[in-house]
Amino acid sequence: MLSKLLGGLSFYCLLAVMGLALADPVIHLGVLDWRDEAKTTSNWQPTLAAFKHYLPNKQLQLHQLSLKGIEQALAEQRLDYLITNPGHYVALSQTYLLAPLATLNNPFFDKPQQAIGSVVLVLAENKHLRSWQDLHSITLGAVTLDAFGGFQLIWDELEQQGLDPNLDIAQLKLTGFPMEQLFDLLDKKRVDAIIVRSCLAEILAAEGRINLANYQVVSEKKHPHYPCLTSSQLYPDWPFLSTGTQAANDVSQVLQALLQPVGNQPAQWSAPLSYQSVYPLFERLRLGPFAAFPRNPLINLFYQYRYLLFFVLGLLLLTFAHHIRTSYLVRQRSQALQQAMQESQNKQKELAHLSRFAVMGELAAGLAHEINQPLTAIINYAQGSQRLLQQINGDNNPQKEPLVAAAQKIVAQGERAAEIIRNLRAFMRKGSSGQQQLDPKQLLQEMRLFMSANLQHQRVELRMHLPENLPNIMANRVEFLQILINLVSNALDAMQQKPAGYIDLYVEHKKQGNCVIFQLVDQGEGLSEQVKQRIFEPFFTTRPEGMGLGLSLSRTLASAQGATLNLLPHAAGGACAYLEWPLVNEL
Ligand code: ADP
Repeated sequence: MLSKLLGGLSFYCLLAVMGLALADPVIHLGVLDWRDEAKTTSNWQPTLAAFKHYLPNKQLQLHQLSLKGIEQALAEQRLDYLITNPGHYVALSQTYLLAPLATLNNPFFDKPQQAIGSVVLVLAENKHLRSWQDLHSITLGAVTLDAFGGFQLIWDELEQQGLDPNLDIAQLKLTGFPMEQLFDLLDKKRVDAIIVRSCLAEILAAEGRINLANYQVVSEKKHPHYPCLTSSQLYPDWPFLSTGTQAANDVSQVLQALLQPVGNQPAQWSAPLSYQSVYPLFERLRLGPFAAFPRNPLINLFYQYRYLLFFVLGLLLLTFAHHIRTSYLVRQRSQALQQAMQESQNKQKELAHLSRFAVMGELAAGLAHEINQPLTAIINYAQGSQRLLQQINGDNNPQKEPLVAAAQKIVAQGERAAEIIRNLRAFMRKGSSGQQQLDPKQLLQEMRLFMSANLQHQRVELRMHLPENLPNIMANRVEFLQILINLVSNALDAMQQKPAGYIDLYVEHKKQGNCVIFQLVDQGEGLSEQVKQRIFEPFFTTRPEGMGLGLSLSRTLASAQGATLNLLPHAAGGACAYLEWPLVNEL
């Protein structure tokens, strides 16, 4: 009895287990509803027929759902399979594990990977609306913002043309599904243009509900062999998705049913395609998995790390300011150092100069002393010779006169030399001495006489430009002559390479300055910038036989008498010695 009872129980248990296994013969298929119910059913009729034929034990329940409805059903795990548009699939795939089992065959078109497009239509009579730019400030009709073929594909095209549907289009009129009602709106001119998925217009035309000739495409895109009007890129057709609620075996059966023809009706589905191409589109539009991405990744990065960036920027600014301050201080110190070095160098130079001058002074004083005696002897002998020569009878000796003249010249030059030496000694002792009122014209004649041999030898003419009335100057005769002779000698040295030429001496009485100006212009090599800087330095010379003392000595002599001496490059080439001599010595 007990065994019977147990046997009966186990039978019922088995039945219960079998019952569980076969518990839900109903397959729940969700379908995104974009037309009305009747249309949806007829749309998916081949799929329904395939399920009936190949899975007779299963009962297929079709759920026509909106985008939101699908999401809710998936969240509540009410769907085993789902048919939706590629964009929606990509958006859902962020949250749900959906596996594409198959891709819809487009009855019009044998390339499923390029089957979904979108088209913007206007009334054919609106001839001014033909390009994207014409859509500025119009009223545009669409179903919803999250419709893939019904909005997002055109949104992408507009964005790529630099147009923002929210900003650049005057009004966006959203009607919701079904999509065909947009044609009514357009016909009634309540909108200027509509966005519909490609092929809808052709389907409606085939059903006799619209006349295609009444409409015109905006910015038409031609795709080879694609039979419908488009304004956008094409994307793979709708996927058939498994939601993962069913056993693998059941899913395989469903897949087989989908891919096989029923009788002579071809299968509505093919092997699944990649939906990868939808991702870049969604990335551009910041939709689905990319919704959280900011439009400008650089700004986002900046915002994310703003505190760190501010800190680094502050640090950089501080470092920069410190660098500027340090380099300023370094520059200042090195300038001061350089200046100090320069000053010490100058002092050294001056010292060297002074010591050389002192040595030269000693040497000159010694020389002057030594020369003085033989010079006096020469003068005495010359005077004696002169006296003796004058006692000779001139009639028998015709050479008497020239000899007397020569002896006279020897005496004169000897006396001049003695005077120079006397002056030099006096100068060495206490600077300039023996100034008196002198006629510059006379002094210049003397200088010419002295230089005549050299001038002739070099075939150079000394042209003097003297004004009529020239006042006397206050000068030491010998020193003045020394200066001028020096200047003319330098001019001749500079003109050595010239076969012949002129030296011009301009003299001018400057009443305002109460002085006489002597300008000696030569036609020599002139002064280079480098030479110009150093010509008054003692011992500076560019002449192989020069001593480099002429100019420095002349300037010293001149300034000892209140005069100034300069040597400048002349505009016409050559050099110009500029001597400004005061009429009254104020020293
Ligand atoms: P030195 O004649 O013995 O060289 P100076 O002191 O008289 O010494 O002259 C110094 C240098 O100045 C000369 O070596 C020469 O380079 C330059 N100089 C002087 N006078 C002239 C001039 N008239 N034209 C060109 N250079 C000149």
